[in-house]
Amino acid sequence: MRFLNLLLFGFLVSLSAENAPHWGYTGEGAPKNWGDLSNEFHACKYGKYQSPIDITDIIESDSEKPVVLSYKNEAKEVVNNGHSLQVNFKPGSVLRFDGKDFTLLQMHFHTPSEYTFKGKHYPMVAHLAHQSKDGQLLVLAIMFEEGEENAIIKQIWENAPKKAGESKELAKVAASELAGKIENYIRLDGSLTTPPCTEGVIWIISKNNATASKGQIKFFTDTIGKNNRPTQPANGRVIIMSE
Ligand SMILES: [Zn+2]
Repeated sequence: MRFLNLLLFGFLVSLSAENAPHWGYTGEGAPKNWGDLSNEFHACKYGKYQSPIDITDIIESDSEKPVVLSYKNEAKEVVNNGHSLQVNFKPGSVLRFDGKDFTLLQMHFHTPSEYTFKGKHYPMVAHLAHQSKDGQLLVLAIMFEEGEENAIIKQIWENAPKKAGESKELAKVAASELAGKIENYIRLDGSLTTPPCTEGVIWIISKNNATASKGQIKFFTDTIGKNNRPTQPANGRVIIMSE
């Protein structure tokens, strides 16, 4: 009996040692299976307001609040986490929206864009993830068109580790320049687009697009692969565009 208990204990320990389920974009860990990989990923399968979605029926509004960026651009590092290339920021870069401050935590990329516009992807997107003091998440999305080389992308790519799990220190990344001015934007409620797919995320998609060269977009795809979660049901979500 004692031996059996030990066996069982050993089994449980080995299970919990693997408590970070393997998720990705292909094979067993592909997006359609995310919700089955872990109880913690429940929202990926059963959530009603998941991201991304296809942006189609937009309500135009002239009473939308301004989005004001006060970024210090003080970064910590660029990480290759196997799912994306991500720049982590020191506290102090703030996005103000609707009277509330959201601190920039990190910026990462997807190829192609995750949100689509009448079914059409942009070749790349930057997601700038923020959090308020009371825990509200807000992601600012900057779409990239293929065009001129982007100096900020150049800096990040040049420092980005090729190997998953590695990072490199980076003191300054001009996120404010990459984002530009947020004049017109689309706003909707959604979720994180990676497990655990947490809902209650404010999404702001800037209409002021950035550019990156063909080679820069290819570099990301060559390093990380395609990493866009497919679009999810909108379930009657309200999509607002500021005028
Ligand atoms: Zn993202």
